[in-house]
Amino acid sequence: MKKVHIVPHMHWDREWYFSTEESRILLVNNMEEIMEMLETNPDYPYYVLDGQTSILEDYFAVKPENKERVRKLVQEGRLIIGPWYTQTDEMVVGGESIVRNLLYGIKDSEEFGEFMKIGYLPDSFGQSAQMPMILNGFDITYSIFWRGTSERHGTDKTEFYWKTDDGSKVLVQLFPLGYAIGKYLPEDEEALQKRIDKYFTVLDRGATTENILLPNGHDQMPIQKNIFTVMEKLRKLYPDREFFLSKYENVFAELEKQQDLPTLEGEFLDGKYMRVHRSIYSTRMDIKAANARIENKITNILEPLASLAYSLGFEYHHGLIELIWKEIMKNHAHDSIGCCCSDKVHREIANRFFLAEEKVDQLINFYKRKIVDSMDTAKQEDRLTAFNLLPYERTDIINTSVMTKLKSFKLVDQTGKEQDFEIISSEITDPGLIDRQIVHYGNYDPFIKYTIQLKDTLPAMGYKTYFVEGNDKEMAPSLTIADKVETDFYSITVNRNGTLNIFDKKLNQSFENVLLLENGGDDGDEYDFSPLPNEELIYSNRVDAKTEIRQNTYGATIDIRYKLVVPGDLEQRKAKVLDSSVDVHIVVKVANDKQLINVELEVDNCAKDHRLRVLIPTGIASSFSISDHQFGSIKRNVIDSAIEVWEEEDWDERPDPIYPMLSYAGLSNDKYGVSVLTNSTREYEIIGENYDTIAITLFRSIGFLGKEEMLRRPGRPSGIKLPTPDSQMIGKITLRFAISTSDQPEKVARTAKEYLTPVVTYNKIPHDAMKLNKADVKTPLEFSFLKEVESNVVLSTLKKAEKDAQFVLRFYNPTETEATAVFEFNRGIEHVSAANLNEKSIGKLELANSKVQVKVKTNQVQSILF
Ligand SMILES: [Zn+2]
Repeated sequence: MKKVHIVPHMHWDREWYFSTEESRILLVNNMEEIMEMLETNPDYPYYVLDGQTSILEDYFAVKPENKERVRKLVQEGRLIIGPWYTQTDEMVVGGESIVRNLLYGIKDSEEFGEFMKIGYLPDSFGQSAQMPMILNGFDITYSIFWRGTSERHGTDKTEFYWKTDDGSKVLVQLFPLGYAIGKYLPEDEEALQKRIDKYFTVLDRGATTENILLPNGHDQMPIQKNIFTVMEKLRKLYPDREFFLSKYENVFAELEKQQDLPTLEGEFLDGKYMRVHRSIYSTRMDIKAANARIENKITNILEPLASLAYSLGFEYHHGLIELIWKEIMKNHAHDSIGCCCSDKVHREIANRFFLAEEKVDQLINFYKRKIVDSMDTAKQEDRLTAFNLLPYERTDIINTSVMTKLKSFKLVDQTGKEQDFEIISSEITDPGLIDRQIVHYGNYDPFIKYTIQLKDTLPAMGYKTYFVEGNDKEMAPSLTIADKVETDFYSITVNRNGTLNIFDKKLNQSFENVLLLENGGDDGDEYDFSPLPNEELIYSNRVDAKTEIRQNTYGATIDIRYKLVVPGDLEQRKAKVLDSSVDVHIVVKVANDKQLINVELEVDNCAKDHRLRVLIPTGIASSFSISDHQFGSIKRNVIDSAIEVWEEEDWDERPDPIYPMLSYAGLSNDKYGVSVLTNSTREYEIIGENYDTIAITLFRSIGFLGKEEMLRRPGRPSGIKLPTPDSQMIGKITLRFAISTSDQPEKVARTAKEYLTPVVTYNKIPHDAMKLNKADVKTPLEFSFLKEVESNVVLSTLKKAEKDAQFVLRFYNPTETEATAVFEFNRGIEHVSAANLNEKSIGKLELANSKVQVKVKTNQVQSILF
């Protein structure tokens, strides 16, 4: 007898075309009905709260008095909560973010009872290949999702095992028709049968057991109170089936008995049966770039810095850091970070990022100040301290500033050695801006803010301090104007149109017309890019650029400005009228001793309905690209073979090879590799006749949340057809990325990590508007907390464990061969253990001469506790 598990649930998009404020009112209303049903009706056994605890947080902000009612229902196993904090996206959200989403979701659940041990992501737009490993890291071995699979991944069944390169594995129950097939089930028998017949055909075809799932819920749907009446009708209509209220775990218990379920691997990004919105990665680039920037700041700067401070005796502010994570994880919900929302909601999302970044910046500053203020020295001079938050000693150019009243100064380290530096610029600063108390007492002597560059070797995961001492040598900026760039690695000339011709001396390889811009129409919506039929693309090859090259001891800066003329909107584009423009300002920075080209590209957009990309030719004809996803690297074909058959096979979406990345994407051959590293845009496509050019999306400009009948996406609109003028991206946006060329392309992940972990500095002067009492702690002038001895893994983060007085060091191996990670501790560490992603010890590790060694498989993440 076929068993139909009817699972009551609601899918809770906190925000979408409606705001969180609107959904919260519904939530308060719906929660009462859910609890009442569970409390008063013993025949109504379960209710699934969408796998996310932010719902509870939103609810208790309004109804804290109901915590005990919720706790009782959770402990009875009837109200099913967790494991996530929000319904996260898996494509443009980083590994640490997804880990914290589970970490805090589970932590919040545990306040009430057990959490649902299923990686439940019923609506996320595609599935990351690394998800089984992340779930296993929290002892979760089941997964439920909807979007991204098709039979070409290896099975046409809806139940299978899904595994990662490191051997992690989850049992998957797919929702082949989504999470809402049992929404508002009608009592009318004819209507009920018409709907259910259609579903049962598909569900039976995919099922490997007698058990099928009918999730009874929908977006923001209130509890269906008449479900018992509907079930009576179902029993009458389908006498050969058993209908009962159930929970997802019951289905997994049956699946566990199955012997030979297929095993699949990899990411699921097929838009054949369901839309996955490949190209949503570049919608509202301002918001997408903010996410990239803030994620990087938290994991690469704030958490390691807070750990250093904690190791020196200061408090680790878990509460403040959790607040930051939760702020951005609210934005990581699939619709929110997808940016397929209304303008009003995007304003709320952008504001959350603004608040999160302000918290991050201020907390970073606080920790730097605490450490530098407490230095154990008798010297009274101002200090400049440079922090290197990578686990290896690093020789780098440090861009910083010194605020002083001195007309000339020198930098001297703790051994008395004078440090060379160069002045880039200087500006007078009003003392009242530094501390209003100074002018309060009548002292109006101005300060001078010197922007300087210096180059030094900094200790691993630590810092070095210089004293700012008076000098009598005259100081002046040392930049000279040049007509080309010459560094240890590159000769770079700028073409008239602002593109670069780069000769890489080490590779003996030329790259021409680098940074050419490509512009095309975008007839899509917030979900998907869609081109105009038979359109001729516009390039920046004929613009007349204004260029200036400046060079000093440490490197060169190229400043490029031009106006790219484009059509004002779709109608003008069809008519081939160039009546609008995009102002482009590119600043390229190249250090003398680095095989890396830094790009800051600011656009001021006046036009609508278009997409702008920057092209980086590599000279490498390729069949696949390599980019990163969470805790690893991924190879993707430059052409999706389904492009030939998608119309014939009636795909929901044209399978263009437009893909997400987190920190890099590139091409390589047996001689060299070229990659784009990014701290902003996370979308790329490999293009060109030989598939040798990396196209990076700078932004897309569209005017609707959802549109119907698009070239790349036929049929109904996704979402609703709501105008979203803000998504036209009129105005300025700055994209930060870099181009890395190398004869060791397998090292690109480490290069990207370094690019995203700049040296940060703190300049201690006797004044600060915000006073702090002196701490009891004494810190050294120079410090190194730990260092890596072998170097093939990439640091993910260093943080303090949430619950214990221990540190968590997390790293992964993005290379194709097994790596050995060896770390050496400089503090008296006594215990080291391997840990899972939930920060629980999973076995002691041997500590020899303060060193610990672990093997890391390809694309594996590992954490150690110490
Ligand atoms: Zn959703």
